[in-house]
Amino acid sequence: MGKKIKQIAIYGKGGIGKSTTTSNLSAALSEMGYKVMQFGCDPKSDSTNTLRGGRYIPTVLDTLREKSSVNPRDVIFDGFNGIYCVEAGGPAPGVGCAGRGIITAVELFKQQRVFEELDLDIVIYDVLGDVVCGGFAMPIREGIADHVFTVSSSDFMSVYASNNLFKGIAKYSRSGGALLGGVIANSMGTPYSREIIDDFAALTKTRIMEYIPRSITVTQSELQGKTTIEAAPTSAQAGVYRSLAGKIAAHTESGTPAPLETTELREWAGKWGDSLLALEQGKITSPGLTI
Ligand code: ADP
Ligand code: MG
Repeated sequence: MGKKIKQIAIYGKGGIGKSTTTSNLSAALSEMGYKVMQFGCDPKSDSTNTLRGGRYIPTVLDTLREKSSVNPRDVIFDGFNGIYCVEAGGPAPGVGCAGRGIITAVELFKQQRVFEELDLDIVIYDVLGDVVCGGFAMPIREGIADHVFTVSSSDFMSVYASNNLFKGIAKYSRSGGALLGGVIANSMGTPYSREIIDDFAALTKTRIMEYIPRSITVTQSELQGKTTIEAAPTSAQAGVYRSLAGKIAAHTESGTPAPLETTELREWAGKWGDSLLALEQGKITSPGLTI
């Protein structure tokens, strides 16, 4: 019997920093000596860009459209530090289910026992998580991922998407679905962003894995087509990504979250809104305290 391959899924709202965080995580894990595959599951198909000098790779769905049968080797590309890069791809705009790529790619790899053959330690799925439906739910529903993490800022729409993900996890956890590892708090820096995301994590019975600051180093690295681990290895931001990688490598215990009902979430947001307004007006001195 081979070793157990750790499979992790990273979900979150579009544009929240999933691919940036995932690529830096993969890069940091590869530095630690792990054999990593990053599996992009966003129809945007740009998950692995910064692991490959800003270059796009052909997706599994595109390759399948060209050839009737696909060898897994045709869709796995070499990235930074030997990371295996895959993009599931999306349907032609306006046609078909956006999650189709994930289902197709995962099945192809399973049939051919690709993960075992490559002797991987960790597979990381980077999944668009605005809606946990169809193919996007697959890593959770089928229990493909051992641990699910969400990337979230303290913005309401981002928290809303995470709460939706928690609903999906809670629903499938009873039938062998994946469990929640925690929240990766991204773009921290605006006043009270930490307090807000901490409060959300406590209410939904999960934890914050790491606080990742909003950083110009990330922007600079992205413009060079690289992860921060590659472009600015000695920066403080690279240190934050390494810290996250250490925690995720050591992570074993995930759980079922306690998502809020939509009305509860709205009320929670409203209370924070009142609190921040009162702070601005000098009526209170610390957030979360009512006058
Ligand atoms: P997603 O994969 O969730 O759609 P991306 O990872 O592509 O989002 O990130 C969207 C944009 O936000 C990118 O331009 C990225 O460089 C930027 N970004 C993400 N995280 C940070 C951060 N911590 N600091 C600065 N910019 C960030
Ligand atoms: Mg992305």
